[in-house]
Amino acid sequence: MKNSQKIILTGDRPTGNLHIGHYVGSIANRLALQQKGDFEKFYILIADTQALTDNAENVDKVKNNVIQVAIDYLAAGIDPDKVDIILQSQIPELAEMTMYFMNLVTVARLNRNPTVKEEIKQRGFSTSMPAGFLCYPVSQASDILAFGSTVVPVGEDQLPMLEQTREIVRSFHNTYNCDIFPMPTALLPENKACHRLVGIDGNAKMSKSLGNCIYLKDEPDIVKQKIMNAYTDPTHVKVSDPGHVEGNVVFAYLDAFCKDEHFKKFLPEYTNLDELKAHYSRGGLGDVKIKLFLNNILQELLTPIRAKRAELEKDVDKIYEMLLNNSKKASKVAGETLRKMKHAMGLDYEKFLKNK
Ligand code: ATP
Ligand code: MG
Repeated sequence: MKNSQKIILTGDRPTGNLHIGHYVGSIANRLALQQKGDFEKFYILIADTQALTDNAENVDKVKNNVIQVAIDYLAAGIDPDKVDIILQSQIPELAEMTMYFMNLVTVARLNRNPTVKEEIKQRGFSTSMPAGFLCYPVSQASDILAFGSTVVPVGEDQLPMLEQTREIVRSFHNTYNCDIFPMPTALLPENKACHRLVGIDGNAKMSKSLGNCIYLKDEPDIVKQKIMNAYTDPTHVKVSDPGHVEGNVVFAYLDAFCKDEHFKKFLPEYTNLDELKAHYSRGGLGDVKIKLFLNNILQELLTPIRAKRAELEKDVDKIYEMLLNNSKKASKVAGETLRKMKHAMGLDYEKFLKNK
């Protein structure tokens, strides 16, 4: 099918507050797209059903984080007049679509998904893996396809999900001889350093489930404390020692967040990040100095977000109302997609009614 309209869909699991990895990996892209405004429709989905696939006993955690994530979006600058924030569990058509799609995907294929593989390892699932968890990439395909999405802004870990979705589109079209879904494409941040922000512990990915995050809502002293404790370079003991930039969390964050103008404001002895890196590598630049610089940059980003959050927290009802209203509308759109799917599959039984 030709992708004639630009429909954007992206989302997050409500397993915790959003962190700075989400900011650079996905929210910054969303804000830029929102600003550009060249789309037909823009959805952000809070994936509570998906979050339950590895949190079945923790419904309270997931439920409570729905509002937290919604507040994080709005505080970070998502404009509810331009973007529909929707709640997955309130759109039952998504689950029905997933049932049909699951028949087009093999268990072997699901087991090969590299992101899921890594997550299974992290969570220590061996024989205890819930079937729903293995299948969550299929439910993610439903989220994307239900709204005819063409552009999906994500971090790097989501590329296998997009590939799986594209395979489902091809398989559905071939199996049922139809052409109803546009082919979605992933949109990664331009800056490579933002594709997968490392955790403050040096772990490969900052992730809510690993607890190695700087959250958008963290108070200034907590942000500073986390930065001061961040993993840098164990061989860089004295200031005069040569340091390593590779694998150094502070430089990974500077790569993602630092712009030349930050030097003028906070560290005028240098003009850009390359100069700072060169000095660190040859020795004579201490960790405290680079950490304080990073702290200034992040505080500048997070201070207005925190202030907006405090305002939004005063009227949470309004946010719940928005979520429920948007989800009702989205359910109608997904219902129409489901109708087309069932028609393609021959499951529109009304046609057998004699008196029709
Ligand atoms: P969980 O640990 O529960 O899976 P998460 O921190 O991985 O949570 P998700 O809700 O799974 O967050 O991801 C939401 C979006 O944010 C995805 O597009 C994902 O690619 C992006 N994202 C998450 N973590 C990072 C990160 N560290 N760097 C860049 N992008 C990220
Ligand atoms: Mg994740």
